[in-house]
Amino acid sequence: MTTSSAEPKRVLFLFSDTGGGHRAATEAIIEALDLEFPDQFQTFMVDFFRDYFPIPYRYAPELYPPMTKYGIWRLAYRTSDGRVRTRALTGMQYPYLRRAAHRLLRENPVDLVVSVHPLVNSTLARAMRKEPLPFITVVTDMVSTHAFWYDRHADQIVVPTEIAKERGIHFGIPAEKLEVVGLPVADRFVSLPVDKAAWRAEHGWDLTLPTALLVGGGDGMGPLRRVAKAINEANLKLQLVVICGRNEELKADLAAVEWNIPAHIYGFTKEMPQFMSAADVLITKAGPGTISEGFIKGLPLILYSKVAGQEDGNVRYVLENGAGVWAPRPREVVEALRAWVDNPDQRLAASQVCQALARPNASREIARIIAANCNLGENH
Ligand code: UDP
Repeated sequence: MTTSSAEPKRVLFLFSDTGGGHRAATEAIIEALDLEFPDQFQTFMVDFFRDYFPIPYRYAPELYPPMTKYGIWRLAYRTSDGRVRTRALTGMQYPYLRRAAHRLLRENPVDLVVSVHPLVNSTLARAMRKEPLPFITVVTDMVSTHAFWYDRHADQIVVPTEIAKERGIHFGIPAEKLEVVGLPVADRFVSLPVDKAAWRAEHGWDLTLPTALLVGGGDGMGPLRRVAKAINEANLKLQLVVICGRNEELKADLAAVEWNIPAHIYGFTKEMPQFMSAADVLITKAGPGTISEGFIKGLPLILYSKVAGQEDGNVRYVLENGAGVWAPRPREVVEALRAWVDNPDQRLAASQVCQALARPNASREIARIIAANCNLGENH
């Protein structure tokens, strides 16, 4: 930790609420900056789509869930994922987005810009050409990272895995600009002590049954409803905890189910670290944030869906490392659960793999990289 009496450095974080992960990652980095460098940074978060970009971009946070559901996202993702294609697309869009990008920079005068979203990098880099600012990208997809993440004008690109680094090199980024640190995760996942038994007792959960935690990203996405109902009908010796995120309809629907097993249904929670600490298995869509948090908590993973494109690689990564299983049909989720309920040793082995894959220091390492790019911290 370092201290200084100089004016705090101003850092702008560009994110958008397309899914829950970009906001969560941004908040984790800001928290780490405060912890590592108290009073040395003033931070600003801007949802560039919602607050600055024109129609139809402005509605991206609202359009993201239906686009992923009906396959439009997959098509857009695959057809645009290439170095030449992203440059061409940026070139085509830029005349329309230029004013918004300049207004964003004018209204948020800062010492350094951090992008935590793939779809702003090239536009911002162009807008900053005349008056360059230090510019860092924090890649918050894990493995199959889209070409849009990698703009060669970024001063540094921080990535969560070696595979994401290799993709950066493939897209023409010099290796020395790419740093593998992991995915930024809130400090509470690392440092908040949770008494599993006490948490379970306080929340009316069974104290001894294996506990499966079912989540679908920030928006309660994927076939959560069908998965929950299949587990209910399977007569397994476990209890189920479902977090519906911001999906109120799902929460109401599941709250009305007649449960054959102990079940606990929640909406969006800020206590995910506690929920994960009190659980034994994590059933989730293949969101990078949730997977990284599950790794830290040593929770074996059952992945029941993925956003086609950016989450394909996450599934491969989990499977190839032995951290969990891919179960795209509800009955496959049930079978995976049954195997882990019946064979606690297998569950333990997967749990140990998860802990080995965890990168609990990612947020603080990113904070140090930001500080170094502001000429603060031990590197300077
Ligand atoms: N999350 C949360 N509360 C909830 C549901 C989700 O804090 O009720 C957090 C979760 O811990 C993770 C993020 O939302 O940090 C979801 O990110 P992920 O990358 O898994 O999926 P996305 O929502 O971005 O598709």
